[in-house]
Amino acid sequence: MRPARALIDLNALRHNYRLARELSGAKALAVVKADAYGHGATRCAQALEGEADGFAVACIEEALELRAAGISRPILLLEGFFEASELALIEQHRLLCVVHSAWQVEAIERSALSKPLTIWLKLDSGMHRVGLHPAEYRDAYQRLLSSGKVEKVVLMSHFARADELDCPRSAEQLVVFEQARGDLQAEVSLRNSPAILGWPSVPSDWVRPGIMLYGASPFEQAQEQAARLQPVMTLESKIISVRELPAGEPVGYGARFVSERPTRVGIVAMGYADGYPRHAPTGTPVMVDGQLTRLIGRVSMDMLSVDLTDVPGAGLGSRVELWGRNVLASDLAQACGSIPYQLFCNLKRVPRLYSGG
Ligand SMILES: *Cc1c(COP(=O)(O)O)cnc(C)c1O
Repeated sequence: MRPARALIDLNALRHNYRLARELSGAKALAVVKADAYGHGATRCAQALEGEADGFAVACIEEALELRAAGISRPILLLEGFFEASELALIEQHRLLCVVHSAWQVEAIERSALSKPLTIWLKLDSGMHRVGLHPAEYRDAYQRLLSSGKVEKVVLMSHFARADELDCPRSAEQLVVFEQARGDLQAEVSLRNSPAILGWPSVPSDWVRPGIMLYGASPFEQAQEQAARLQPVMTLESKIISVRELPAGEPVGYGARFVSERPTRVGIVAMGYADGYPRHAPTGTPVMVDGQLTRLIGRVSMDMLSVDLTDVPGAGLGSRVELWGRNVLASDLAQACGSIPYQLFCNLKRVPRLYSGG
């Protein structure tokens, strides 16, 4: 059997969820959209079902998958509904629903719901992606509550630059939020992972941790609270071939690496078809038999090459960690101009093996 696999530590997932709650002192919706950032939405939700205040997903298809797997906690649709016809399913499966646009307010007013919904009303406080304009916000709130179709509204917004700890933009967005809200008395939800870890003074009744649940830091630089996260996924494989090259020999497609010295090359069963980033450059950290070494040459579809010259004990069958507790996904992402979010979401083909379930 091909040795490439992703080990998923559900105890670490629970640790990170508890940290989100502890740091915020708030209720926390575990964000498990996009198949729990590649970690497996059903398994992750089941591991948290006993303690999570609820879950958040991108769309109704993802919510229905969780309901079908027996998840009964609240589930929030982060983009609400895409068509008014989804409202019947939202009611039937007791889903919480974001409203980010005027057409959604109108669709709810016109709907034939028999049980009132809980709506998370999203304000565009400066990210300019989705959300109601500040001037429309209070009116939308009142219309929803007087429609007879809504029993509760949570006030929500999203930060564009919370991962930049010295950036004033989050504080500016908070001012826009407070002004738009005025005297509306309702629960508030503003914080994603970087805001939970790095912006402790932002008020919240509910927080929405995503990437931090999976143990990866959203920050480019070291950060005290992020250092407390436990990586959930270890992407690992084995050395399947070894060769000794004299100086001056090319390795892999395009001869992007040429040995500077006599070099022992290990070939690892892992490639870009598994989700390892193809653009990772020579020098990217890789761990072999517990020792850090470097990727060399271009990443192929099914294989990649590592430098074993300074890991003399390593050879055929040696264990290789591509990311995990030793090679942090956030460090690897930075080495290749990506973010840990994308590395995790790109995971494909490798079997996921769970522990701590
Ligand atoms: C994805 C998402 C989150 C989670 O963001 P992280 O940075 O992964 O914590 C929170 N809120 C909204 C609206 C999202 O779309």
